Amino acid sequence: MMEVYGMDGERVVYMSGEIVPESEAKISIRDRGFVYGDAVFDTTRTFGGEIFRLQEHLERLFNSLKYMRLDPGMSQGQISDLTMQVLESNLPLLEEGDDYWVTQRFTRGVPGGDGPMKPTVIIECTPLPFKVRAAYYRDGLPVITPSVKRTPPEAMSPRAKMHNYINTVLADLEVKGQNPDAWAMMLDVNGNIAEGPGSNYFFVKDGVLMTPGEQYVLGGISRQTALELAHELSIETRETDIDMFDAYTADEAFVTSTSFCICPVSTINGTTIGTAGVPGPVTDRLQKAYSGLVGVDIVGQYLARLE
Ligand code: PMP
Repeated sequence: MMEVYGMDGERVVYMSGEIVPESEAKISIRDRGFVYGDAVFDTTRTFGGEIFRLQEHLERLFNSLKYMRLDPGMSQGQISDLTMQVLESNLPLLEEGDDYWVTQRFTRGVPGGDGPMKPTVIIECTPLPFKVRAAYYRDGLPVITPSVKRTPPEAMSPRAKMHNYINTVLADLEVKGQNPDAWAMMLDVNGNIAEGPGSNYFFVKDGVLMTPGEQYVLGGISRQTALELAHELSIETRETDIDMFDAYTADEAFVTSTSFCICPVSTINGTTIGTAGVPGPVTDRLQKAYSGLVGVDIVGQYLARLE
């Protein structure tokens, strides 16, 4: 049994074989995850301390590992058990009403030793940024399309969740340079909407819910959840190419992500989306259904942090 520190006021991390306080988790300057971004990760979250869709996140993690030809050296079951152990050790440190992001990372390791490289493995928790994002649930997200295009699948598949985020970081810098509160909506090389630096985009037009197909974006678990909830609510869905005309003329738009769940978009490049204000009626129904599914008022959890 590994020693656990979570109760001493500092969060703990699983780091390549042991559980240590976060401040003691160190990575080599020669680790390929640091040097090249040669690593894979996945992130889920908790709702009221309960982990969300861990198995689906681990399946996506294993697909990303396979795509990167990276052998994790452990089974999905072992990663699941370690994730739960790290989470349970850290839960006592969670403040009332807060929740965690829960992340697993596998780098290719440190070259130069005897034999093949062994992956560096990190499993960690960090509190979700409710306060800094709270206003988006009241006002909606202002969205800007940067000139930087999402990496095309011919170069590097956006469907794998890898450490190399420079493409989306550049997009985000360009957007934040114009408006520090804005969120990037990246286009693919064909000019259709792809995704944000950590979120998928949805549009509602004449009652139909549309989102870009998976070839050009990461298959978000919250994206999948939103599609499932739409089916349950008998809202028609389409996974299809969406261009800027579709975006500007949509009745509603929102983003999905593990942290955002469902967050309404207010404007795209300065154009107000729809006439209903935020959230629009379909967004509102989906947010309520999401809250019902996870057992936490997802909008209320953010709005409670408004200053
Ligand atoms: N696209 C990208 C590029 C992302 O990094 C994320 C966040 N993991 C998403 C979409 C949303 O995925 P999820 O709903 O699983 O958080």
